[in-house]
Amino acid sequence: MKNNPYYAASNENLFGASPQVQIALQRALAQVNSYPQPDAADLRHALASKLGVHPEQLVIGNGSAELISLLVRRFCGYSKTGEVLALYPSYPLYRQEAVALQIPFKEAPLTSGYRIDKEAILRQVNAATRLLFLCNPNNPTGTYLSQDELTQLLDELPPHVVVVVDEAYIEYATAPDCANALSLLPSFPNLVVLRTFSKAYGLASVRIGYMIAQRSLIQQVLEVKQPYNVNQLAQVAAMAALEDEQFLAKTVKDTQVGKAELTAGMQQVGVQYWPSQGNFLLLDAGIGAEKVYDYLLANNITVRRTDDNYTLRLTIGPEEHQLYLLSMLQALLHPENLYPQHPLLAQVLEVGYSLPSLSAEATQQAINDLSAKAASQRDAQGRVALAYARAFAARSLQNTANAGNLYASSLGVMDMISAFNVLVTATPLVTFGHRFANHSILTAIAGKTEVYLLDLGIGSGLQWFHLMELLAALPGEKPTLHLTAIDIPDNTSSNPLQKLQETGERLSLHAQQLGLAFSYTCIGTRLEDFDLTSLSISPTQTLVVNAALTLHHLADELVSQPDQRDRVLQQISALSPAVFSLTEPDSEHNRLNFLPRLRESLRHYHTVFDVLDALLPPDMPERRIIEQEFFGREIMNVVACEGNGRVERHERDEAWQRRLVRNGFKPAPQQDIGLELAQELALHPSFSLVPNGAGYTLHWKGTTIISSTAWVTLQE
Ligand SMILES: *Cc1c(COP(=O)(O)O)cnc(C)c1O
Repeated sequence: MKNNPYYAASNENLFGASPQVQIALQRALAQVNSYPQPDAADLRHALASKLGVHPEQLVIGNGSAELISLLVRRFCGYSKTGEVLALYPSYPLYRQEAVALQIPFKEAPLTSGYRIDKEAILRQVNAATRLLFLCNPNNPTGTYLSQDELTQLLDELPPHVVVVVDEAYIEYATAPDCANALSLLPSFPNLVVLRTFSKAYGLASVRIGYMIAQRSLIQQVLEVKQPYNVNQLAQVAAMAALEDEQFLAKTVKDTQVGKAELTAGMQQVGVQYWPSQGNFLLLDAGIGAEKVYDYLLANNITVRRTDDNYTLRLTIGPEEHQLYLLSMLQALLHPENLYPQHPLLAQVLEVGYSLPSLSAEATQQAINDLSAKAASQRDAQGRVALAYARAFAARSLQNTANAGNLYASSLGVMDMISAFNVLVTATPLVTFGHRFANHSILTAIAGKTEVYLLDLGIGSGLQWFHLMELLAALPGEKPTLHLTAIDIPDNTSSNPLQKLQETGERLSLHAQQLGLAFSYTCIGTRLEDFDLTSLSISPTQTLVVNAALTLHHLADELVSQPDQRDRVLQQISALSPAVFSLTEPDSEHNRLNFLPRLRESLRHYHTVFDVLDALLPPDMPERRIIEQEFFGREIMNVVACEGNGRVERHERDEAWQRRLVRNGFKPAPQQDIGLELAQELALHPSFSLVPNGAGYTLHWKGTTIISSTAWVTLQE
């Protein structure tokens, strides 16, 4: 029982429980002096006949939580060699049980759209994997497994893996293709289905759940179960709840109605949710989860935080609760509440919020007003607001012809180069990634004689000048370097490869001056159109793959099938590099809808502009180019473009990390080089370098900007 009027954190049935349960419990109270029925025989028989299985195919547990614990104990604890595998994000108890018993636990991440990735699961399976937990529909995402997906997975998994399909929310599922695990039980002796009375049946308090499997598997689980694990009141309550089909039907219907109201409300206030088959929604407002959580809690609404820093889970409830919740979210997300100190940023949000509802004329007026105010203010706020005003204009006119193309500009090449030089020399925004990557590369190639560098999106090649200098300064024999550079050809030039070739010439000259043996190849192709595994890399060469601020341009599954980002990562993984270094902005502009993306991007780019404000003089011409051309174009693309038109599809560091794990990578061994890096980069004191598990994230005044990470393949 919770004190909060709206406790939406545990996915209980907020519509109550069957009145029959209370009556049955009253009656049962007279017999509390007796032990419960061992193994809950009556309930097992009732369930067996309802489900069409044999009573000996069932175990009743003190909540399905107990059954999860028994499974982990029986299949991994016994032999002391088993491992547990689950999806991510999913129900945290699978991990907790494994950790409690000191059993190795692995995760196979879901895709960016929270779909299951069969290959990612199979990649994590090994001879020691004894349990795979699949939650269907999945808590906390609400997404589901289809019958085809489950069948294929069961077909391809080795039989030593016990597959547990946790159907805690199955009563709510309406998708016609949602997997029916029960129907697969006769074919798979390694399949277990878990269900509970805690959710749709409304009996969370009495603790009762059940497991269904083939008899031989059930026998094994019974070896670790106590005879009186389920109390009699729970058994009686479950029998009564099972019989009241009307109440169950009403719960399912009320939840449907509530979900429809809540999702419509979320669209209105601009909070992203994922279509859910459960009695809950996963939310992302484009602002940190902690802030949302605290605000709601202060207003007597408890929601559930997840394992990541942005999403929250919320239980569907009665209408009055939800209307209250929505009004609180609206208040929280009000521009002036989000930016009390920054009136212009608040105005940016306000214009963004109103775009869908304003007439063309009123939109123009609002944008003009924003531009005028922004132009009169020379701080980071004014400058970023100006970029947003331009982006809104492009969005409202759908004038996005130039918004996606980073490589065309009305400015001269020399202006751009000069601005880029300022960005590189006066700020760490570019060099941070170069420096971290080069540290990782140097470690990976130590003692090697031949090095093959593959750079995806080489740009001006700056990073390699620095690496060469590091190498030249080392004592002893130097490795020979071969660099293969891939980048988008410059189709506006008569020689599309010219830029790439010139970069190679400059690098060759530099190598020569340093006395390094160096060769260079360039490939003028979009990454999407190239097969990395077709490169001829000799087994005597140590391969290094580098991607700085490039991979976010690739379309992922949300806009392309197959997912190009995954395809390229899998090709890199297939090449088994000694290290793969990745640098990407830490912000989500891929999977968020317009309003949450607007909030997210404004936080990100305001932080970037604040860095520029602190590090560059206000009237520097290069600064204007950096702000309004380099970052301004990104902002325009992020704000104005949807679908395939959006090429600036950054993902948060946590999303990249999950994606890399999913595609066969693990973090390279980590070195504590934060202090060294900070010194090398001569970081302004408002910056900090925060370890992120695979490298470092650069923060400015506590807000993340960019992450640089180093990876090796899983087999290493
Ligand atoms: C709520 C929940 C359970 C657990 O429930 P019990 O109350 O222990 O029966 C199990 N799995 C998932 C995915 C859940 O969300």
